[in-house]
Amino acid sequence: MGGMSGTLRTLFLHPPSFEGFDGGAGSRYQAKREVRSFWYPTWLAQPAALVEGSRLIDAPPAGLTLAEVAPLARDYDLAVLHTSAPSFAHDVKVAEALRATNPRLRVGFVGAHVAVAREAALKASPAIEFVAGNEFDFTIQEIAQGRPIAEVAGVSYRTNGHVHRTPERATLEDMDRLPWVVDVYKRDLEVERYFIGYLLHPYVSLYTGRGCRSKCTFCLWPQTVGGHRYRTRSVEHVVAEIAHATRLFPQVKEYFFDDDTFTDDLPRAEAIARGLGRLGVTWSCNAKADVPYETLKVLKDNGLRLLLVGYESGSQAILNNIKKGIRLDRAREFTRNAKALGIKIHGTFIMGLPGETRETIEATIRFALEIDPDTIQVSLAAPYPGTALYREAQERGWLEADTLVDAGGVQTSVLGYPHLGRTEIFASLDAFYRRFYFRPRKIFAIGAEMARDRAVLRRRLGEGMEFLRFLARRRRERH
Ligand code: SF4
Repeated sequence: MGGMSGTLRTLFLHPPSFEGFDGGAGSRYQAKREVRSFWYPTWLAQPAALVEGSRLIDAPPAGLTLAEVAPLARDYDLAVLHTSAPSFAHDVKVAEALRATNPRLRVGFVGAHVAVAREAALKASPAIEFVAGNEFDFTIQEIAQGRPIAEVAGVSYRTNGHVHRTPERATLEDMDRLPWVVDVYKRDLEVERYFIGYLLHPYVSLYTGRGCRSKCTFCLWPQTVGGHRYRTRSVEHVVAEIAHATRLFPQVKEYFFDDDTFTDDLPRAEAIARGLGRLGVTWSCNAKADVPYETLKVLKDNGLRLLLVGYESGSQAILNNIKKGIRLDRAREFTRNAKALGIKIHGTFIMGLPGETRETIEATIRFALEIDPDTIQVSLAAPYPGTALYREAQERGWLEADTLVDAGGVQTSVLGYPHLGRTEIFASLDAFYRRFYFRPRKIFAIGAEMARDRAVLRRRLGEGMEFLRFLARRRRERH
């Protein structure tokens, strides 16, 4: 298979999921959300685009099991695995299986979870040779080019039983140095396999920048890989990549900009929107609930379809506790404006944040019913290592359980308070979904959408099944 001289034959792997590992016990869930959805492995696609001749395998959406992935280890010199807090223990087993197939394979781990505790991650298994720090694109490129690892900045590694750490890598400032990912998507992925319930199908998502100006205490990426400045690619670089993507993927119906807060830089967001408007594409992005009407109008006039908005809570005290930097009246006004312009909203909420009580749970559900986003997602507060919420929870003894997911990969409620136990917080999720969706208005809206579009019908029926199974499962767990 000889790679380019000096270049290591490199496999970028999003490891097989829980389901895959178990060999298909059909009732298991691999995602920590209630509806199975797949995001693009963009964090791996970026370095993959920097390493000539590499291959990116995204095992979960491809339905690949460990038994199918392990033999591939023979064809590579280097495997880079993207891991996360809930999947880490399992990903280590995957690394060991790859090494069992090819003992000469070099294995590195990347991702926020290991970047914040590199040495601890290395200790988890001798199969892991190195762990990269926060922004790992060029770290991996240099290793893949065959540079001695001791000379590569931003990495912790093992040699002769000892663990070493090289100097930190400088934060990437010239974001246009990040390569386009759509060519890697085209080469290695099947866009039809990526589903997100509230996005049109097929969709493509990518980043136009990193970092978020807000300091929400629970939010992982800005506190680890991204930082609190919004570092951005140029408008031209972004628009040219989307133009290229439309030629690669004529079938794609929607582009999603997964930047933490795409609307952090309003003039830039408007400039990109105008470029997208000229291309005539439909697009969506993440936003905070404070975008002014004038900007919303420009975005909508240029193809914006949907905003993914983190409302988190309907209690101002909780929003203040988590440093969300949002006022409820502002969020209400933003939502009214977006709706008046015909922009769809997928609202996300979190139960069990610091300060949560029965009353604030009720207030949040009422708030959601009042502002009425088109769709919602409710999560449990998850204190990820590396976040201020995690440190706060540790200090105050709120960590009632020490895993973020159960053995099947379902998100568990970790935070508990003296006045509000985690079982009760967990139960509030069901109540929230039921009260939001089982309203005539919502059932009618979803029915009308399905009647218009058979593809939506098929997708929603599939999701409906997952959702009902999820509810059934939750009930089982409570008893
Ligand atoms: S605004 Fe969103 S992306 Fe930014 S820190 Fe808060 S939750 Fe995270």
